[in-house]
Amino acid sequence: MYTTLFDFGRLSSRIFGGLAVTAGIQSSIMSSSDKAKVNLLDFDRASMAAWFEARGEKPFRAQQVLKWIHQQGVDEFTAMTNLGKALRAELESVAEIRALAVAADRKSTDGSRKWLFELADGNRIESVYIPEEGRATLCISSQVGCALNCSFCSTARQGYNRNLSTAEIIGQLWMASRLLRADGSAPVSNVVFMGMGEPLLNFDNVIRATRLMQDDFAYALSKRRVTLSTAGVVPGLRQLADASDISLALSLHAPDDALRSELVPLNRKYALREVLQACRDYVGEGRRRVTMEYVMLKDVNDSDAQARALARLLRHVPAKINLIPFNPFPETRYRRSSAERINRFRDILHNAGIVTITRRTRGDDIDAACGQLAGDFRDRTRRRERLGVATTES
Ligand code: SF4
Repeated sequence: MYTTLFDFGRLSSRIFGGLAVTAGIQSSIMSSSDKAKVNLLDFDRASMAAWFEARGEKPFRAQQVLKWIHQQGVDEFTAMTNLGKALRAELESVAEIRALAVAADRKSTDGSRKWLFELADGNRIESVYIPEEGRATLCISSQVGCALNCSFCSTARQGYNRNLSTAEIIGQLWMASRLLRADGSAPVSNVVFMGMGEPLLNFDNVIRATRLMQDDFAYALSKRRVTLSTAGVVPGLRQLADASDISLALSLHAPDDALRSELVPLNRKYALREVLQACRDYVGEGRRRVTMEYVMLKDVNDSDAQARALARLLRHVPAKINLIPFNPFPETRYRRSSAERINRFRDILHNAGIVTITRRTRGDDIDAACGQLAGDFRDRTRRRERLGVATTES
């Protein structure tokens, strides 16, 4: 998914192409001899309780262990002092809490912070921390790369590599929480799936991770504080309605099918009418609204007529709009709309009665907007073949 606050890929290319990488990689990854152990970060409460039960233990052990792992940030069983010695020893021999490795950690002068995490197979993903008045948001990834090939998104240039496991998804929050606690920063209060990847195409692992985010024995975040952003995978949206109540954002970016199909090729499969109906069904009749993300592209989707068309399109959808100033990356054909144009576009939507905010760019000094991967990504994916599949199949 796409947001504009930081440029995931650009950071990868600049930092990780050289200097800071090797020094930054932490050694909290498992050793090769530990590979057969179960990583407890992969479990939500239900699956951990079942795992304990299968081992002849009481299911409530899951609550105790989850609290140690996710609330205390513990990664050693010896620290879990309300477990008996024998159980701790047994856990030591069969399980582990395997964190992501920090390959780089960059802090912006505006307080935002960006991590590059290295996975056990050498792939790298990024997470961004954005503190604001009264809240601190963590933007996380759900896949390595992305198959959906949105034309304005630098993540798309990497192609799709693989889905992240539950441990790798929740591991971003776990590691961020630990690192923030260590230096006294505000804890994460909100999580958004707006980093690399389409979360609804990694459904099971994403849902398990969101259960942990919402679990009182783990992060205890309310449904309003966990937001999944999708390009509009309609079957996934339907499935989501049955599985979860988290907040929803749609990468909209255009007021009509012709332009949206150009910007978000998935639109050729799931057109606006169908996607918006699925969004409407997801939020139901209550007071909840879908956040519509709209990246402002100069002379592409930013005219007065398009603002009016957008207002008409959303007339019957409970929605608010986030206007996102585009953050250009090398080789892109798009440019950012001017501040005046963005203001004018916003005013038209406001006057039509739609709550519209312009997202502030953050972290410019640590490489701008996320989801705009550029540069020296490591494409291990035979990208063209995969994109051929992605645009027709996903
Ligand atoms: S290609 Fe599209 S769906 Fe994938 S990360 Fe970029 S904006 Fe999101």
